[in-house]
Amino acid sequence: MQKKVLVIEDSRMAMNIVVKLIEKAGLEAVPAQSLTEAKHLFSHSIPEAFLCAIVDYSLPDAANGQAIDFCLDCVLPTIVVTGRMDYQTRSDVLSREVVDYIPKENAQTYDYLSRLLVRLERNKHIGVVVAGQDRASARHMLSLLKRHNFTTYEVTNAADTQQLLRENRNIKMVITGAEFDDQNSTALIANLRVDYAKERLAIISVCDNDNEMNSARYIKSGANDFLLKPFCHEEFLCRISQNIELIEHVEALTMMANTDFLTGLFNRRYFFDKLGPLVSNSPQAQALAVIDLDFFKQVNDTYGHDAGDGVLWKTSGLLKQHFSDAVIARFGGEEFCIFLPQTPPKLAFKRLENFRRELASTPMEIGAHSLSISTSIGLVTQLSADLGETISQADKLLYQAKSQGRNRIVSDIVLPAALSRVASC
Ligand code: GH3
Ligand code: MG
Ligand code: MG
Repeated sequence: MQKKVLVIEDSRMAMNIVVKLIEKAGLEAVPAQSLTEAKHLFSHSIPEAFLCAIVDYSLPDAANGQAIDFCLDCVLPTIVVTGRMDYQTRSDVLSREVVDYIPKENAQTYDYLSRLLVRLERNKHIGVVVAGQDRASARHMLSLLKRHNFTTYEVTNAADTQQLLRENRNIKMVITGAEFDDQNSTALIANLRVDYAKERLAIISVCDNDNEMNSARYIKSGANDFLLKPFCHEEFLCRISQNIELIEHVEALTMMANTDFLTGLFNRRYFFDKLGPLVSNSPQAQALAVIDLDFFKQVNDTYGHDAGDGVLWKTSGLLKQHFSDAVIARFGGEEFCIFLPQTPPKLAFKRLENFRRELASTPMEIGAHSLSISTSIGLVTQLSADLGETISQADKLLYQAKSQGRNRIVSDIVLPAALSRVASC
């Protein structure tokens, strides 16, 4: 379901800008020009459909932030936009449990709002652990994090922090204090770094500012960042967002480095990096196949390169469907490699045969054309501890499949006669 954003704003110009930002974020704006109209619209809607509310501090029928209170009463994460920049308004707004406060100042502040909307949606899938804080600090931090839609966890000892991380892959951040029952916080940070790199897990240390040595100690023990107490609302959330964004950027870059742009499958380098050690440790009951499209050059020559790309994309989709449990890579051009873990030889053969048959028997619709596509496959079921050697063996079997007439599997399995007839088309 597309998420909605309630906007309460009486300025037509500001409303237009905000509605455009909301739509750009892939969300649906529900505009109201007054608090009365907002109450009416909200009472006729499903509350769960709303991601958040963006509220003008001052409205004709709610001059001093009453619309904020209405939204908070409706349990809507509330972002306040205001033309008023004075200290009193800012503290008045931040004394309420709002997500953030954005001055209607310039294009940058609207850009900030735009990024905030994207974050609110993404944060739902990100876990943050608040660890080893005193009660009041923990309550304050959890409240701020929840307003930003993070999934939050609270722990008071180091062992529980480690356990939470093992059990919840969604956790990307730990905010450490100094009050652990079982370990000091520099030891916890150093221990976490053994298993979680800085690019995978952000650790932010919150230190009392009575000891200026602390911040350096924490960073040297492996923390990504630190925050001195007492901190203000915005500073806390900016540090959190910046560190989470950094992790997301690294994830995006890693993804780009490991995958093939056209098909979204892993690339050859990643395949070797990931599987090399796995195969050398336990080569038993595993299968590896090299798959190559037949006469693919003719597709390009006859229908054009874009049509060829379409065939590669659709073939990859079919591979993903058939082998969701496997590691699949595009090795280059129209050649793919599949690693099937824990798959006995005959089952591997059967699954590849199902794929081969479905591809060959289903015309591929590319633009106005309906194309017949087939593949030849080299399958190895007796893997060597050396991945490179296994792949060259699969290549040799693939070459045999090509020279025997294509559209078939050649494997190192000794097949019963009946099955080998099926395999040769
Ligand atoms: P065979 O049955 O022997 O495998 O013949 P083939 O035509 O499939 O193989 P060949 O190696 O002669 O041609 C592969 C073609 O794949 C040539 C190359 O232009 C094309 N190709 C490689 N990468 C891409 C790509 O990313 N997109 C498209 N559209 N074509 C590609
Ligand atoms: Mg080919
Ligand atoms: Mg080829």
